[in-house]
Amino acid sequence: MRYIIGGNWKMQMGPLNSIKIAKEMVNHLKDIKNIEIFIAPSYTSLKDLSEIFKGSNIKLSAQNMSEFDEGAFTGEIAGKWLVELGCSYVILGHSERRRIFGESSEKVNKKLLKALELGLKPVLCIGETAQERIEGKKFRVNEEQLEKSLSNVSLNQISQIIIAYEPVWAINNRALNPVGEIRAATPAEAKEMHDFIRSWLIDKYGSNIGQNIPIQYGGSVTPENSEELFKIPNINGALVGTSSLSAEKFSKIVFYASKLS
Ligand code: PEP
Repeated sequence: MRYIIGGNWKMQMGPLNSIKIAKEMVNHLKDIKNIEIFIAPSYTSLKDLSEIFKGSNIKLSAQNMSEFDEGAFTGEIAGKWLVELGCSYVILGHSERRRIFGESSEKVNKKLLKALELGLKPVLCIGETAQERIEGKKFRVNEEQLEKSLSNVSLNQISQIIIAYEPVWAINNRALNPVGEIRAATPAEAKEMHDFIRSWLIDKYGSNIGQNIPIQYGGSVTPENSEELFKIPNINGALVGTSSLSAEKFSKIVFYASKLS
């Protein structure tokens, strides 16, 4: 399976900077052919980046979308307009959406079904908090998020989906993790949960399909820790936040995946 490396810029890069960093990335990564790469800028930069990425090996992603087609929904963005602007992917159920903006797995599921209908590839984020882990609920929380977020997805559609396992405690975000150290999962912690997710996918969709659904790891991925993480069999790439704000750091992460591929 090809590694998939995505960059999630969150609300951390304005329009001018986005153009600059996107151009640098196109240049740094122009010779990479064996990795699937996407960048998710702010909605306000999608049009500019669509032009910049045209003809390159970097695909465009949105960070969220509405579950509705279009209409009187102030502040929402229709998935079909993301398609019109050249998006191939959409990140759904990111822990910042779930935990800060109160998005339930039921809502994520509606968005995911709409994205599939429109031909967008959903990057479905799941992950447990530090507290849930301490309370021994890590498997249950991830399983429930998978079960509910993927409800009514057909066997034909499931191959369009990417899962991103992002333990909330590993995400470099003080709003999600107000106290304590924020660190990436160790290879052993990541392996345990990626193996669990893989088994769940195989149980649910059968071996042929379940084996081939990509599972990205996300949470404090850096050029320093990415190579070790990518060596783990059920880690099929990374969803990168902070390190994707630098073309140099993000490219290094892609180079490591490319080397191992
Ligand atoms: C993320 O929020 O998707 C993420 C992985 O962030 P960071 O890399 O900054 O921890």
